[in-house]
Amino acid sequence: MQVRDAQFLVSNTDYQACPPPDKPEYAFIGRSNVGKSSLINMLTSRRKLAKTSSTPGKTQLINHFLIDGSWYLVDLPGYGWAKVGKRIRGGWQQMTADYLKFRPNLLCVFMLIDIRHKPVKNDLDFMAWLAQEQIPFALTFTKADKLSASQGALHVADYEKELQKTWAELPLRFVTSAEHSTGRDDLLSFIYQVNQD
Ligand code: GDP
Repeated sequence: MQVRDAQFLVSNTDYQACPPPDKPEYAFIGRSNVGKSSLINMLTSRRKLAKTSSTPGKTQLINHFLIDGSWYLVDLPGYGWAKVGKRIRGGWQQMTADYLKFRPNLLCVFMLIDIRHKPVKNDLDFMAWLAQEQIPFALTFTKADKLSASQGALHVADYEKELQKTWAELPLRFVTSAEHSTGRDDLLSFIYQVNQD
């Protein structure tokens, strides 16, 4: 599965200034350095569509892209980076929370987790908040090429075990590698399926 066309549209700090909510929308979020820009570039087969954040915490905006003229891909700011001042972090939270809560055409949030990392409170709290607000999300493990297939499967299983302590039903999960284009078909198939529903 391939994306034919991908265009950057606009960056915003206010969800109300985002493009008209007239197309299905999917947002990508995760801690800085999780591989979000790389994943977006991999999914869209564009080398530099999303800016990779060599300066962590720099991309503090809601970035809209139009994909194949039919759906919006949204790059949300990375969160939880210690170098970003408290004031900005507060602003991030409000801006992102408002966007996630009130964007009417948002169909799924892809919550990115580095496959090598263990569950951390920050991420678990964020997922709990998404569930509480009834915002659909899918867990998306990144950088799968950093581990062997068997190690990767173990890490995912450990993560799932942790989630099962509090979650009756696990969210949808994807395993990806921007380096090897792993998971691209799964993710795009999911998006195109949801678009048709
Ligand atoms: P962001 O801050 O979440 O947008 O993360 P980036 O996409 O900028 O990636 C952070 C770092 O991880 C960069 O050095 C990337 O080259 C690296 N990276 C991202 N995705 C992958 C991946 O799938 N495999 C490997 N090996 N490295 C990755």
